[in-house]
Amino acid sequence: MTDSPRAETKKFDTEVNQLLRLMINALYSNREIFLRELISNASDACDKLRFMALTDDQLKGLDEGLRIEVRVDDEAGTLSVSDSGIGMSREEVVDNLGTIARSGTRQFLENLSGDRQRDASLIGQFGVGFYAAFIVSDRVVVETRRAGEPPETGVRWQSEGHDEYQLEPVSLDRTGTSVTLHLASDHRDLLNAHRIEAIIRRYSNHIAFPIHLVAGDENRVVNDTQALWARPRAELQDSDYESFFTSLTGDPGKPLSWAHHHVEGSQRYSLLLYLPGQAPFDLLYNRDELSGLKLYIQRVFIMDAAEQLLPRYLRFLRGVVDAADLPLNVSREMLQDSPLLHRIRGTVTARGLKLVEKLANEGGQPWEQFWKQFGSVLKEGVIEDAEHREKLAGLLRFHSTSEEGSSSPRVSLDDYIARMPEEEEHIWYLTADSLAAARSSPHLEAFAAAGREVLLLDERIDEWLVGHLPEYKGKTLKSATRGPEAEDKTADHDEDSLKLAGRIKASLGERVGNVRPSRRLHRWPSCVVAEEQGVSVQMQKLLRQAGHELPESKPDLEFNPTHELLALMTMESDQERFDDLAALLFEQALLAEGGELADPAAYVRRVNDLLVRLLGSQPPDSPQ
Ligand code: ADP
Repeated sequence: MTDSPRAETKKFDTEVNQLLRLMINALYSNREIFLRELISNASDACDKLRFMALTDDQLKGLDEGLRIEVRVDDEAGTLSVSDSGIGMSREEVVDNLGTIARSGTRQFLENLSGDRQRDASLIGQFGVGFYAAFIVSDRVVVETRRAGEPPETGVRWQSEGHDEYQLEPVSLDRTGTSVTLHLASDHRDLLNAHRIEAIIRRYSNHIAFPIHLVAGDENRVVNDTQALWARPRAELQDSDYESFFTSLTGDPGKPLSWAHHHVEGSQRYSLLLYLPGQAPFDLLYNRDELSGLKLYIQRVFIMDAAEQLLPRYLRFLRGVVDAADLPLNVSREMLQDSPLLHRIRGTVTARGLKLVEKLANEGGQPWEQFWKQFGSVLKEGVIEDAEHREKLAGLLRFHSTSEEGSSSPRVSLDDYIARMPEEEEHIWYLTADSLAAARSSPHLEAFAAAGREVLLLDERIDEWLVGHLPEYKGKTLKSATRGPEAEDKTADHDEDSLKLAGRIKASLGERVGNVRPSRRLHRWPSCVVAEEQGVSVQMQKLLRQAGHELPESKPDLEFNPTHELLALMTMESDQERFDDLAALLFEQALLAEGGELADPAAYVRRVNDLLVRLLGSQPPDSPQ
């Protein structure tokens, strides 16, 4: 490194160190992404300058002829990526290249699994920005000068990618940034113009600024700078849309489908929307990461506008909106309130839903892949978007008792309705922690016996979902655990059963609501039934886990008078033992439901007492 007296050495943030180490280890086979990351930064820098020049007279003129240059220098063993964009001041260099500023990268780090292949594919998919330069380099030098600032404000930053970097002031003729990579010996094969051209075409073909590839005497533009979304559909092939998707998202896979429209009329805009094939790793829990939709005005990039243009539950959509009629010098704040954006948002939502609907109608593997990746997010829509609730509900897919062993949920509400007997008014469902728990629930016995289908809802969000979907196409959704309707309340039970019910209620006291005999059970001795208007056992558990205090709720207990355990209880005259059995009957029913016991230790003690008594009265056979 240089030892200029004005140079200064600084330490990286610990997180940067972590990232650097990881990258060099994990990314060997995915190394090409470094170029995509650097070109994308260069393009962002050009976008920024163009945007700022709209309102800042000092920058006027600088935004003409914006370009990116990728230079291959065989002799020096270097590759460089330069741009004539916004550049950085010294302070910005320290902030941007010495720490991990962007939250996405930090979250990415938190999500690392330690599994090298999986981590590598994550980085490949999402990128780690500038630091990707160190995948292939043993030294990186950045020279930059902020647009509008004098030559002597230039900064040189360099690092070997361990612990520290050096900073020194330099005088630079031109504004903008150049990043020079001194390739490590095992990556020198990248000093090949054809190879670099192929990588640029693969990932960066649709960057809006010309990318000049310079090698020896050669200097040519290698990308297609025309805005694809502005071209007529008839001119475009599937492969054009697919390569644009990769260059827009960095996702090397193919999109599942796309929609491209030119909206004419009083307000003109172009819209290109994609359904990606792969969900970002943080799709579910990062509801605020909204960078999928880019807003352009007359081909000038204005901002990531997913927040303004997409409802949250469609945050998996990717694409571009280009409005022809907005003034270019509009501020971001003004944009937020623009009636045109409101209208565009309506169109984007409708078109996005149509895209999903079309995929659903076509069915097959692409739809299944979509559902697996994004189904849970779509469920948020039923909760949040009353206007499109019915349409969204029609897209949902569930497991069901009619589909033994299918690994992915396939039954729609319409399928269910088509199969249900004419006189049936309800769509029955059961929520549970897992599919296995749902399938073995005692509540299903009576439905199975009557040949009635029950939807099995095994995702966390499902409990909220059904809370917001009281009915679908005139049929009410109803929990299979809820209410005695599943059985005829007035049905005659013999006096012994009614007496037993009274005894059990007296024994359990305030822990339960009603206790009654039931014919809905066959193999199971008992089940709990949420009060008709009460909160289900599953919902109570989720709410408690989320830290809510809930009033003590009392489920009803139903028991199966023909079960052997109940026959034994009828004959039990010892009150203490009867109390134990009654408590067990109740606790088992709660457990089978996936509920939580108020006093698990007492339950274990009771079971152990019984075991000891049982085994004690039947000593093991003594060896012959
Ligand atoms: P990201 O680009 O996702 O923000 P990076 O690690 O790639 O993350 O870059 C960090 C920051 O450094 C950028 O946000 C930008 O402010 C700055 N930067 C990187 N490359 C350039 C460049 N070529 N010109 C101007 N600024 C840059």
